[in-house]
Amino acid sequence: MRISIRRSIIYIGLIASTSFVACTDKQYSKYQCPMKCEQEKTYDKPSKCPVCGMNIKGIE
Ligand SMILES: [Zn+2]
Repeated sequence: MRISIRRSIIYIGLIASTSFVACTDKQYSKYQCPMKCEQEKTYDKPSKCPVCGMNIKGIE
């Protein structure tokens, strides 16, 4: 019984670590300035905001 509980804890840990990797690897389809200098204007690639120069961030 103790062993199976331990195994499930390791299994949950594995799921958590793989989902974390997937999260950091996430590709966004839309990017937007975090300051919203251009209101709702979005870009399809990460770059810098032409207004404030900040890195635009993935939103979805
Ligand atoms: Zn900006």
